[in-house]
Amino acid sequence: MNQHRNTLSIDLAALKRNFLSLENLSQPSQVMPVLKANAYGLGAKRIATELKNSGATIIAVADLNEALELRDLDLDILILGDIIPEEIPLAIRNNFILPIGSIESAKLISTHAKNRSVFCHLVLDTGMGRLGIPIDKALEEFAQIAAFENLHFDGVYSHFAVAYGDRGFSLQQVDKFKDFLTQCNYNFNRIHLANSDGIHNIPEACQAPFNLVRTGLNLYGCFDLEGQQRICLDPVLSLESRLIRVRELEAGTSIGYGRECILTKKTLVGTVAIGYADGFPFNSQAYIIHKGQQCPLLGRISMDYITVDLSLSPEAKSGDSVLCLGKELPIAQWAKWKATITYEIICSLGQRIKRIYK
Ligand code: PLP
Repeated sequence: MNQHRNTLSIDLAALKRNFLSLENLSQPSQVMPVLKANAYGLGAKRIATELKNSGATIIAVADLNEALELRDLDLDILILGDIIPEEIPLAIRNNFILPIGSIESAKLISTHAKNRSVFCHLVLDTGMGRLGIPIDKALEEFAQIAAFENLHFDGVYSHFAVAYGDRGFSLQQVDKFKDFLTQCNYNFNRIHLANSDGIHNIPEACQAPFNLVRTGLNLYGCFDLEGQQRICLDPVLSLESRLIRVRELEAGTSIGYGRECILTKKTLVGTVAIGYADGFPFNSQAYIIHKGQQCPLLGRISMDYITVDLSLSPEAKSGDSVLCLGKELPIAQWAKWKATITYEIICSLGQRIKRIYK
């Protein structure tokens, strides 16, 4: 018996197909899965294991804690975000690949490493304004950084600011990056710029000198709302909840907080065990699907429940499963209801939703 009311099924075969399709699309670049934030809330260990079995040789995470969780997987692990000083000894001891985006950070890492060699990726700021060495200072600063003999620069990367839209700006980022590579004359092994959107919108960032792309969102068959799609990907996620109460209520009955819905006719009403604490959109346009029928929300959503109109599904009964997200009700639809990006939808699916791998 499944004691969880809400389950998020993660289709590992679809994940693998997406990874392989993206590898194909990005050629000659390879795909480095980005498994930040516990693989966007889906369970980094399980996702990383599946991707390793599908051929991934390197993964990226945001910080040291995320890297430590995956250490025993025998994969190269790149930490993307700046390392803070207290983290350096542990990061070095675990042989993570460390980002270097400033002379100070190079100095600190080199000092801690002593006579040990540390694998690093140089971080260039070509237009994101967040992390990395500003591109106009990169040659000068890298000349100093490269002098630290115990730092081995396995790679170099930058990040697109508008990969989903402004191709002109993105191509300037590509050019700045390439100019740096030509002028700095260092033999980097891994060179990367594109994220999911970059693969589709800026294919120039998959071609030489680039040889790696950093992909998170696309692995789950999701796309940015504003970006292009050069291929179809398989949906990986499906979120189901349960009807915990089904009954007919009379015209005039009010439903939920604020009495925002007053039934105008006798209606078959279902209470579903999912609410905004699980990430469900607080939007009156939202619906769930019961046996293929769209059942619209009645009244306001609460923390643990929504109430739906089951008129189109008269056979519905307590205990039935309902679909909240999946092939027929995509994450992009929730993103529109919530007026946000698809990334936020995946990352904010509540922790009490049981993740199930199939
Ligand atoms: N690279 C960096 C530096 C990121 O911060 C992210 C995600 O936020 C990614 C790559 C992966 O992006 P996406 O999920 O769009 O593929």
